[in-house]
Amino acid sequence: MEKVTIVRSMQRRSVGIQIMPDASVTVSVPYLLPKFYISKILKEKEAWIQQKQQLMLARAPQKESNIYYYLGKEYVLGVPLNPKEIVEVADKIYVASRNPSLIKTYLTSWYKQQARKIIVARVQHYAGISGATYKSIAITSAETRWGSCSSQKTLNFNWKLVMAPIEVIDYVVCHELAHLTELNHSRDFWETVRKMYPLYREYRTWLKRHGHKFRV
Ligand SMILES: [Zn+2]
Repeated sequence: MEKVTIVRSMQRRSVGIQIMPDASVTVSVPYLLPKFYISKILKEKEAWIQQKQQLMLARAPQKESNIYYYLGKEYVLGVPLNPKEIVEVADKIYVASRNPSLIKTYLTSWYKQQARKIIVARVQHYAGISGATYKSIAITSAETRWGSCSSQKTLNFNWKLVMAPIEVIDYVVCHELAHLTELNHSRDFWETVRKMYPLYREYRTWLKRHGHKFRV
């Protein structure tokens, strides 16, 4: 924990820890609280702080490049001359607006639509092969995971997955389908994934390395 700012206040009676958008930590404390005590509290809260920091970093709008990803390909943004659709993919991703916040809104809703179409089709494909039965599929905006499977057999997938190559989407689909029968990440679970998708390791690694780039 490097970036900790301590704010001392005469008015304060308790210790408050705040994780800032850049993941730095601000601790507000009563004016005379000794430093060792602050360190002790920070140590106790370390796991919680790290969890919040990761959430902040995942959420931060760090679109550092003009590259947009769709099914693993890189695109720059273009404004169409004669827009027929609000968003279209060709050599670029064409969005019928020059307003940055509208572009973001249009792209997000377009990505979600594509995610639904593609992921539902891939789930049906692999469920057909493996015989897995599920209740429903939801496309979510979960910031911390790519997919999940509830005990009610609802499969959830993050819409940003549609930015990844189809092989990576397939891996996540098979991962969640495997959770229909194996709720944990036991050896049996990974064996179930492997049977459905033998190359899963490669794409699991790919997602860990590149998933952070997927922003709108
Ligand atoms: Zn899992």
